[in-house]
Amino acid sequence: MQLQNTLRKSYSFEGKGLHSGKVARMTVNPAPVDTGIIFRRTDLGDDVFVEALAENVSNTARSTTISKGDASVSTIEHIMSALTGLGVDNALIDIDNVEVPILDGSAKPYIDAMWNDGLQQQDAPRRYIEIKEAIEVRNEEKGSVVRIEPAEEFSYEIKIDFNSRVLGVQTAVWNPSVVYAEEIGTCRTFVFFHELQFLYANNLVKGGDVDNAIVIVEHPVTEEQVSQMSQLFNVPALKVREDGYLSNLVLRFPNECARHKLLDLIGDLRLAGGFLKARVIAEKAGHGINTTAAKKIRAQF
Ligand SMILES: [Zn+2]
Repeated sequence: MQLQNTLRKSYSFEGKGLHSGKVARMTVNPAPVDTGIIFRRTDLGDDVFVEALAENVSNTARSTTISKGDASVSTIEHIMSALTGLGVDNALIDIDNVEVPILDGSAKPYIDAMWNDGLQQQDAPRRYIEIKEAIEVRNEEKGSVVRIEPAEEFSYEIKIDFNSRVLGVQTAVWNPSVVYAEEIGTCRTFVFFHELQFLYANNLVKGGDVDNAIVIVEHPVTEEQVSQMSQLFNVPALKVREDGYLSNLVLRFPNECARHKLLDLIGDLRLAGGFLKARVIAEKAGHGINTTAAKKIRAQF
């Protein structure tokens, strides 16, 4: 029988939020049986909690935000994914600002901190979320779909297609034979160069830099545009590589972008409130459709 797990000790992380640019200190703490994952905004008081559940989702534009009353926490998806991928049932996450630090853009910093310590087993069986009837959420406009089917073992399959000559069509899979910590959790977020220009112009990514995102250069860009980006990022001599990625980093997997979307999907679906026993099939999925699917799971459960 699978027992519930929590962490063996507390782990702290500090850094800028990707969208707000605000520095937060976040401490992930052990928590009792049946707690699930709960955030606490320590800057607002000792008892300002926001449960990481789908009904608390308040915004899904470019990241997932949960809110209760006046308290919110945004960009929760990577820590939610890490805790799920590592097998943590219960955790209390203290944070002293509005947004989870982006760190390196993946869940690797969490994994590096927690994985070697192992988990603390708890004296209660894990209560899996079993899907009784298939759930499907579609966005016709975007051509995206998340489908969740009953299954004995969990499996998550994702396909991404941005109509991009650089990325092509990519797929990625998580199931019991795939080690999340090595193959999914390490994969970083990504952004298209032309989007980045728009986001900066509109002051929407205040905490981004080239250490925490893969940048894809889809359309021809001028040297001047690249050098502007160098200045913004404060990194000298950025170049566009022949394969279409900005020269700031080495890909951890050829399909790192699909694996990152899978990381996000795992984190967003954790808002269903626990571990799924289901087959998840997602295409062109994003935070909106992912969290809508999590809501539907909760409605069924
Ligand atoms: Zn992400």
